[in-house]
Amino acid sequence: MGSLNALELTARSRFFRPWLGESLCSADTVGRVSALLDAEGLRQGIHHVYERLKRNKAWPDHRGIGVVVLDGHESHTSYLQHCAGCLERTIPGKDGRADRTQFYHRQVTLLLLPAARAGGEPLRLLLDLEPQRAGEDEVATALRLLTRVLGAYPRAFDLVLADALYATAPFFNFLLGYGKHALTVLKDDRRNLYQDAAHLFAAVAPQTGSFRNRSCLWWDFPDLLSWPQVHSPVRVIRSLETWSVKRQLDGKKESRTSDWVWATTLPAQPVSTERAVGFGHQRWDIENYGFNELVHGWHADHIYRHEPNAIECFLLMAFLARNIFHAFFLLNLKPAIRRGRTQSFWRSFMSAEIYTGIDPAISP
Ligand SMILES: [Zn+2]
Repeated sequence: MGSLNALELTARSRFFRPWLGESLCSADTVGRVSALLDAEGLRQGIHHVYERLKRNKAWPDHRGIGVVVLDGHESHTSYLQHCAGCLERTIPGKDGRADRTQFYHRQVTLLLLPAARAGGEPLRLLLDLEPQRAGEDEVATALRLLTRVLGAYPRAFDLVLADALYATAPFFNFLLGYGKHALTVLKDDRRNLYQDAAHLFAAVAPQTGSFRNRSCLWWDFPDLLSWPQVHSPVRVIRSLETWSVKRQLDGKKESRTSDWVWATTLPAQPVSTERAVGFGHQRWDIENYGFNELVHGWHADHIYRHEPNAIECFLLMAFLARNIFHAFFLLNLKPAIRRGRTQSFWRSFMSAEIYTGIDPAISP
């Protein structure tokens, strides 16, 4: 709904009483209670959904390598309101105006990816989040998150995908310590590992391959020792990808290329170059299926109540609702009913139930 006020406007709906056993409380109460909620209980709710899916065999076998994507996401930017959990930064003033302090929140989030289901959209689950603290870098926040998630879901995944920010020895070594693997974008051209790999790209002929509709040239160098801070040899993979798109303006075909370099601890046996390149691209799933949908489909960036625990709890509730919605959509709805109807159709259909039966002639 996007605001607690919008919720309060539906208080006279016949929808709530059968669910709640009493009438809906006020927007103020929902905000106040959310600041006092136990985030751990909500995390257990998310875990419960995962366990139920597994027990009901609704969670597909991941063929030996379970995958999660990790990323930071900024939310709740404001110049005016701030709370004890706010991070802050200085935004330089334009046209002679004074610099301003901007307040914001940032969370590191973990999305669990399953193996693709035959003939259907895979079910992806948002597992957990951790708020970044003032003065802390994102990797430190991520390690706190992973420590908790590895305790609760020790066997759910074997590989963590992340962007170039996570190409650090502490991150790789942390995962190696738990018997897990890392795969991150490798960008830093000052690093020895990158430079050694770049020499190899120039000297060694690539293999050809394909990813989706793209023709690829692949270089794959396992067991590189030029990142001694990491407690295992590191494998570097490059994928130079070419594909053509139709220009909107005149319909002419235009060639596009992208050039990816990844660092990983995944062994070449049994993880082929093709499979590792696929993992590299799955890193975008958290943008496409996580953050974008949370913001545009679930109003998860809205400040329902500006208080650190309330922000954390509203996000965890959005994770829980999103996971249950997707599990319902993919596993409960018969394909014949699902076909041709978008998820936003189902969202509107479900919320219509809340608005039905409100008599606008009666003031709220
Ligand atoms: Zn704040």
